[in-house]
Amino acid sequence: MTCLECKKELSYIDHKNAIDAFGVELCAKHQVRLNRLIIKNNTPKEAIQLYYGLKERGLTPMLEWWDGKKSIDIAISRVKLNIEIDTEYHMLTHEQAINDLEEAMHSFKNGFTTIRIPNDLIKHHFTETINNILGIVEGLNANIKKI
Ligand SMILES: [Zn+2]
Repeated sequence: MTCLECKKELSYIDHKNAIDAFGVELCAKHQVRLNRLIIKNNTPKEAIQLYYGLKERGLTPMLEWWDGKKSIDIAISRVKLNIEIDTEYHMLTHEQAINDLEEAMHSFKNGFTTIRIPNDLIKHHFTETINNILGIVEGLNANIKKI
């Protein structure tokens, strides 16, 4: 049991606290740092898990990346991919759907691709979700090379 950020050996209690709060292994110092970020941005737990899952698979994601207008849950800047975790998609109103579509339009215009992932998917199909994101990154990468 070591911290995913600094590789520090974790005590039983640090490990338990981190898993309970974030679902990933982090030392006390990095738990505090992450907590600050979560409180500031209202980051869903699944975004944290996805972030570390993508890191583990060799990507360099950024958590709560400020795009100039708002904070993106996870961004992979090399391929200009934004990932938003949806937590209230069960009751998506038409207004929210239009807002999402408009956001997608603006990001496309700026050369960014935005995908929205329901948090339940990360909860129940973690590996499949990661595999698909890796595929999207690969596809975006291939398109960048063509230009
Ligand atoms: Zn640490």
